[in-house]
Amino acid sequence: MNLIFLGAPGAGKGTVAAKLAEQTGLTPISTGDLFRAAVKNETDLGLKVKSIMEAGGLVPDELTIALVKERLASETDGKGVILDGFPRTIAQADALKTFFKIDAVINFIVPDEKIIKRLSGRRLCRQCNAGYHIEYMPPKTENVCDACGGELFTRKDDSPESIQNRLAVYAAQTQPLIDYYKKEGLLIDIDGTPQPDTVCESVRKAIGC
Ligand SMILES: [Zn+2]
Repeated sequence: MNLIFLGAPGAGKGTVAAKLAEQTGLTPISTGDLFRAAVKNETDLGLKVKSIMEAGGLVPDELTIALVKERLASETDGKGVILDGFPRTIAQADALKTFFKIDAVINFIVPDEKIIKRLSGRRLCRQCNAGYHIEYMPPKTENVCDACGGELFTRKDDSPESIQNRLAVYAAQTQPLIDYYKKEGLLIDIDGTPQPDTVCESVRKAIGC
């Protein structure tokens, strides 16, 4: 069973991917991790990615596709994968189709207000980098790290304006992919609002595994 996960930042697809992988033996493959590993291991493709990223450029489709193709070729246990962060463009989706069979595309739907609430409540410790959430995982004392007593702060990326901007970019980028996979008959919408365990359960029901 090979899956693609689509979902806005803060829709919780990473958490659900990890849970689903644990329960079913599917391998989660995130493009972000793939880039980092290739750069760290200094593979041929990794060195190319590294020089592009160091120059502040965007990794071109062909390179991303080559990396994913290489990674998928090494996936031989036959259980399947969860692709997270790929494909991101129609060109990537077209290429993927030529070398890999996708069984379903899971589209996690969470209303923007909910995502803004989730992301804007995140806090980080200035000293030890521990993560908190003012609602879901509050520190014992407001704005103070439980672990080291350091001051907590909000990342710039997690300000409501910045989140709104990221959501708009995501929607514009992803709508063509949603249409693409709908046309292919592979798209499954999943309500990403409940707790991750519940969302994971809905995914398993929807794909029958
Ligand atoms: Zn701390």
